Amino acid sequence: MKLILVSNRLPVSLREEDGRLHLSESPGGLASGLRTYLASPNCPLRSGYVWVGWPGNPIRPELQDEAARRCREEFSARPVFLSREETEAFYEGFCNHTLWPLFHYFPHLVAYAEDSWDSYERVNRAFCDAVLEVAEAGDLVWVHDYHFLLLPALLKQKRPGLRVGFFLHIPFPSYETFRLLPDRWRCALLDGLLGAELVGFHTHDYTQHFLRCVRRILGFDHEMSQIILDDRVVRADTFPMGVAFDAFSARAGGAEVARLREDLRRPLGDCRLVLSVDRLDYTKGIANRLLAYEAFLEANPAWHGKAVLLMVVVPSRTGVVDYQKMKARIDELVGKINGKFGTLTWTPVLYQYRSLPQGELVPLYAASEVMLVTPLRDGMNLVAKEYVACRPDDTGVLILSEMAGAASELGEALVVNPNDIPGVARAIKVALETPLEDQRRDMAAMRRRLRRYDVARWAGDFLDALRAGRCRLDERLLSAEEKDRLVRDFRTAGRRLLLLDYDGTLLPLNPKGERVRPSPGLLATLARLGEVADVALLSGRPRAVLEEWFGGLDGYLVAEDGAWVRERGGEWVVAGAFAADWKPKVRELMELYADRLPGASVEEGEFTLSWRFRRADPELAALRARELADHLIGLTETTGLKVVEGSREIEVRPSGVGKGVCGQALLARGYDFVLAVGTDATDEELFRMLPASAYSIRVGVAKSYARFNVRGRVQARELLEVLVAPPPG
Ligand code: UDP
Repeated sequence: MKLILVSNRLPVSLREEDGRLHLSESPGGLASGLRTYLASPNCPLRSGYVWVGWPGNPIRPELQDEAARRCREEFSARPVFLSREETEAFYEGFCNHTLWPLFHYFPHLVAYAEDSWDSYERVNRAFCDAVLEVAEAGDLVWVHDYHFLLLPALLKQKRPGLRVGFFLHIPFPSYETFRLLPDRWRCALLDGLLGAELVGFHTHDYTQHFLRCVRRILGFDHEMSQIILDDRVVRADTFPMGVAFDAFSARAGGAEVARLREDLRRPLGDCRLVLSVDRLDYTKGIANRLLAYEAFLEANPAWHGKAVLLMVVVPSRTGVVDYQKMKARIDELVGKINGKFGTLTWTPVLYQYRSLPQGELVPLYAASEVMLVTPLRDGMNLVAKEYVACRPDDTGVLILSEMAGAASELGEALVVNPNDIPGVARAIKVALETPLEDQRRDMAAMRRRLRRYDVARWAGDFLDALRAGRCRLDERLLSAEEKDRLVRDFRTAGRRLLLLDYDGTLLPLNPKGERVRPSPGLLATLARLGEVADVALLSGRPRAVLEEWFGGLDGYLVAEDGAWVRERGGEWVVAGAFAADWKPKVRELMELYADRLPGASVEEGEFTLSWRFRRADPELAALRARELADHLIGLTETTGLKVVEGSREIEVRPSGVGKGVCGQALLARGYDFVLAVGTDATDEELFRMLPASAYSIRVGVAKSYARFNVRGRVQARELLEVLVAPPPG
């Protein structure tokens, strides 16, 4: 089993210079974390990895073979070559002009361009092809980040057996923000992610936002972070990414850094160092940070000449006008602060507009008393964690924006709101004046946490969860052998009974809530089954509907979940002395709730009432359904009525009515083979009462009293077809 990693950038850059190829390694946190995990003695992924990604520059077709070979041999990488136009529309376009601003809550910066969506789809498909070229049976695929939200489903469609995990490195926005995307896009993006077995996020909030969007936009419910699709379960979970803690800590505590640190501090004299490091991006809140520092200096003349802000800004998207404007604004603010407060011997802001190799950041982290991390929004922010890792003597104060994912793990930091400029200014003062003892207490606590959950542990946890695969709900799927045994038992039995639920089991639940007529094909299958077994069709529908649809069927018809039974070729008989005088009161209540929930309706049988909400907004429906169920349970407590919560419906009926009671009566007629197939709470009553020798199958993956699950209706129908097919040979 090998691991296939997919990310926008490969950890190697390819460049063409004077007609020749140049390869340079650019490992990030992800690459180093994975390497540590893959090298650990208990890592089960023995066959290493292949990294699929873009090599950073367009490469002429003549050089692509050589580039691919060298990437494979030297870096175990599979480059995906993109033209300049493709990168522009895909990367600059949909990734950075649509998803990036939207997911970071900058809706006014979002572009809604059809052509960039098209290229997003195209590039996702190109990556799908590249992955499939290197994928072998049993491999794990780990897709990274917002560039490839469509990829998991594309992979799943082409290679259903492939195990795919996805991790999002940026925030997943709230439903209110995500819904701004056109419906076609937002559905495709969520569907794309649901192609994965496991979808990971940095924080609990992002996971919850995703689950909520899936429920509200696609209508799939979740149970303990498992999203229940028609035919499988997708797990969404939180895996906060860490840093290579021990490597940072050891390096920061070493002699070389001690020397570099002194070199750095010497020209600063007694000044305390406040550090900030980020890429130039509007999400990072760099201008606000400068304003806060200015306000701090304004309010605290005592600190003039005693503190310096060292600000490293890494150039990013230099060709984009908005970024150029942002840079000009930062330059201007730095100039203003230095002009206003600076002296011949003291420069309040030391500004570096360049990228430093990570190794050079370590002495900066180690030398700085205060780290100022105040993004307006940030998926995680690794710089904050690196600073903590580089403080082996437990001193230093981290000022951290509550809008950074890291804040949910680093509660001992001085947590600030980056929009509160006076608040950040006050925090700078507090940080500079925090007694050593308090610094040590807080820093030690943060270090303990980050040491335990480092980047290798993060990668390992995610991959272990992905490998563990089959989640609880998936576990009882009817295997090929069990299916063979079932068919054998059916064929050798004398008297056979098939108890079949209708809506949702034999036919799809209609999202519009309309009644779904059986197709001629289904009627033919039922007729053939009726020749070799006693077939009982069980439904919650009124008997008139069943009579209309299945009047000609040679078998039992059960209406209103068991209140009425039509004998084979006979008349409808009521299955007990049931009361119906309770209905007006319950109907009134159900109608009241239907008025309060657009899309809900009440269906009335002679002895049953159902409140159906298949067409309603799923979130509001869940809330209203809870309230109605509570209300009904209260109302019916001492009345001999039963409240049953089914799949998108709540039913009230006399307690003697039910598919369980009805099934018992049928079973009493003596059968040596029994198979029940169903899909919701009313069928669970039946599954519960069946003897251990009976076969019971729940359609769809969900917890059930049934002995087995099948993934969906298609599989259930196939099974029924096999029962009437002539035996092989
Ligand atoms: N980094 C670097 N050189 C620099 C500035 C930053 O190598 O000059 C690294 C830094 O060590 C960190 C990463 O870039 O690992 C930035 O990650 P973060 O999550 O803080 O922000 P992002 O840029 O991914 O939004």
